Amino acid sequence: MPDYSNKPEDDLYHKLEWVMFLRVVFTSLLLGSTIILQFSEKPFPLTGPLLVLYGLIVTIFLLSFCYALIFKQVKRKLIFAYIQIGIDTFAVTTIIFVTGSFASIFSFLYLVIIIYSSMLLFRRGSMVMAVLCSIQYGILIDLEYYGIINSFSMNGSNAIGSYAWSQVLFKVVITMVACFAVAFLSGFLSEQLRRTRNKLSALEDRIKRVEKMAYMGEMAAGITHEIKNPLASLSGSIQILRKEVLYNPEHDKLMQIVLRETDRLSALVNNFLLFAKPPAGKIEKIELESALTETVKLFEKDKAGTDKVTIKSEFSSNIWIEMDPVHLRQVIWNLLLNAAEAIEGEGLVGIKTYPLKHNYAGIEISDNGCGITDRYMQSIFDPFFTTKASGTGLGLSIVHSILESYDTWLDVESKVGRGTKFSFKLKRRYPPT
Ligand code: ADP
Ligand code: MG
Repeated sequence: MPDYSNKPEDDLYHKLEWVMFLRVVFTSLLLGSTIILQFSEKPFPLTGPLLVLYGLIVTIFLLSFCYALIFKQVKRKLIFAYIQIGIDTFAVTTIIFVTGSFASIFSFLYLVIIIYSSMLLFRRGSMVMAVLCSIQYGILIDLEYYGIINSFSMNGSNAIGSYAWSQVLFKVVITMVACFAVAFLSGFLSEQLRRTRNKLSALEDRIKRVEKMAYMGEMAAGITHEIKNPLASLSGSIQILRKEVLYNPEHDKLMQIVLRETDRLSALVNNFLLFAKPPAGKIEKIELESALTETVKLFEKDKAGTDKVTIKSEFSSNIWIEMDPVHLRQVIWNLLLNAAEAIEGEGLVGIKTYPLKHNYAGIEISDNGCGITDRYMQSIFDPFFTTKASGTGLGLSIVHSILESYDTWLDVESKVGRGTKFSFKLKRRYPPT
C-alpha cells in the first residue's frame, strides 16, 4: 500500500536530531574522562594519545556545530545522515587507535554505530556502515601488525608483537563477523518495525475514514428520509396544478422550473441515500472482462462528443468475482466519470484488471488529469466535498460505501499535474459451473 504521508522523512529528521544531540553528549563524556585520565597521572603528562584524543574531541565538537548550522538547510537528509555516520566510523577508528589499536577495548563502539545507523538508514545503511567499520578495523590492525604505525599502548609496550598472526587474524575476523551480524540483525529489526509502522498508519487512516463516514451516513439517512416525502408531495401537487390551472405560458414555464428542480433534488437525495445506506445488493458471479467492457462501452456512448478523452482498457481474461452488478457498475462509472472530469482537453483514462497474490483481483482506473493536492486528499471521500462548479461531491463517498460493504478499500495515488490512480481489490472466485 503506498504511503502518501511524509512521515518517513519526518522520522529521519527527528532521529538525526537525536543522533546529533547524543553525539555531543558522548563527546562531552569522552572529554571528561580524558581530562580525568590526564590528571590522574601526575604531573599531568600531555602524551601523544591524549593529544590525539583532544584533537578528536575538538574536531567532533566543531563538526557537530557545523551539522547544527546547516541541518535546516540540507534538503537531502538521507545523504546527510550517511555522511555523519560515516564520519563517526572514522572517529571510532581514531579512538581505537589511541587506546591501543589491537589491545583497545573500544572496538565495540563500531557495533553502537551500526545499531543506530540501522535505526536511521535501515538495512542498507547498517550494511554500509558494517563494511566501513570492517575495512577500517582491518587496515588499522594490519598497519599495526606490520609495524607501519605504532600503537599508543597505554603501558608503553607494543602489544601486538607478542601475539601470533593467527590470533591477530582471529580477533579481526571476529570483529568483522560481529559487525555484519549486528548489521544484519538490527537492520532486519528496523526494517520490520518500519513496515509495521507503515501498515499501522494506513490502517489508522482507514479507521478514521470509516468512522467519519459512518457518523455522517447515520445523520444523513435520517434527514434524507425527511426530505424525500415533502419533495414527493411537492412535485405531485405541482403536476396536478399544472393540469388544473388555466394555461398561461408564463406560469407554465415557472412550474416546469419547479418540476425540474424537484427532480434534481430528488436525484440528489437518492444518490445521498445510496451513500448513506447502500441497499444490500444481489450478489452474482461476474466475469470482470465482459462486465467492465460493457460499462466502458456505455460510458463512452454517454460521454460521446462531450469529451476528447480516450479510454484505454486492459483486462485480464477469466477473472471472476462476486458482487452485485449494479454496484460494480456504479463504482466503475463514478471512477471513470471523475477520471474524465479531471482531464481538461485531450487526455487518457486507463482501466485495468489484473490478478493479484493470494487469489485477489486488482482493478485500477487512472487518468493523466489535474491530480489531487495533499490538502484535498484528506477530504475527497467526504460527502459533498467537491472542487467542481457543478459537482455533488457524492461520487467517491458512494464508491467508498459500496466497496466498504464488500470489505474492500479504495486506494488512491496522485501527483498534481500528472494524474491520479484509483485502485481496489476483490476476492477472486471460481467460475460458475
Ligand atoms: P464530484 O465528482 O461530484 O466532485 P466526487 O466525490 O466524485 O465528487 O469527487 C470529489 C472530489 O475529488 C472531486 O471534486 C475532485 O476534486 C476530486 N477527484 C476525484 N477523482 C479525481 C480524479 N480522478 N482526478 C482529480 N481529482 C479527483
Ligand atoms: Mg464524481
